[in-house]
Amino acid sequence: METVTSLSELRAARAELPEHVGIVPTMGYLHDGHLSLAERARDECASVVATIFVNPTQFAPEEDLDAYPRDLERDLGLLKEVGVDLVWMPALKGMYPDEFQTWVTVDDLTQVLEGTSRPTHFRGVTTVVAKLFNGVQPQKAYFGQKDAQQAVVIQRMVKDLDFPIEIVVCPIVREADGLAMSSRNTYLNPEQRQAATVLYRSLSAAKAAFEAGERQAEKLRAVVAEMVDAEPLAQLEYISCAHPETLRELQGAVERALLSMAVRVGKTRLIDNLEVGR
Ligand code: AMP
Repeated sequence: METVTSLSELRAARAELPEHVGIVPTMGYLHDGHLSLAERARDECASVVATIFVNPTQFAPEEDLDAYPRDLERDLGLLKEVGVDLVWMPALKGMYPDEFQTWVTVDDLTQVLEGTSRPTHFRGVTTVVAKLFNGVQPQKAYFGQKDAQQAVVIQRMVKDLDFPIEIVVCPIVREADGLAMSSRNTYLNPEQRQAATVLYRSLSAAKAAFEAGERQAEKLRAVVAEMVDAEPLAQLEYISCAHPETLRELQGAVERALLSMAVRVGKTRLIDNLEVGR
């Protein structure tokens, strides 16, 4: 497994890779969720490029950029074990040189859900992903359903800007008790870690209600909201029942929906989602 930092090194190494190439963009501090994307890429592509870059432009000033966990040595060991061929770890100045002023923005899809609480987040994501795509020139790119809105936004960007890249969205990998794996779970103390199970518990309760015949979007949201309210260490930021592709909030009877939520447990902000009616 080769590792590179500069764009010129990346391009030289990329030119040697057998086609097709799959990319797995990450911010590092890898867990089994990230590794499931790399494994899928390895199974579907001749070569796999993973990227590790804690992208400052997708963090707001008050967010956890400085605290974001990092363990490069461990990450590289895990990627090697999975069979990744090349790891690109761009330097900050390499990605955002002085005078940088060009942004990729996706309009409506980024104004809702996560975009409401994090108005500059997706501009950072789409800009860095466009740059990662331009550098690596992959045929396929692997993203997690954990960040459901991100996957929808990236798919829109790829269509709108004619990137010749197939986006593959992989299922959420969870801990044994249902908590979606996330690098941010490491912020939780034992009591908070226990409380954090309320995200998946409440989404699962809404899904069970749907499967038992409940179709009203308002009711499905209420099932989640009531369960989170009952957990003293958790504060609900939003619960959405939206169309899985347009992300428009649904009212009345639904046939298919993306239930997604953000919850604060202490200072840690956690997200999760579940689709119903697939
Ligand atoms: P991040 O390092 O948080 O930027 O995540 C990198 C990629 O891994 C994104 O496409 C995420 O959606 C995906 N990912 C993160 N957590 C999980 C998970 N628990 N299951 C599946 N994919 C995940």
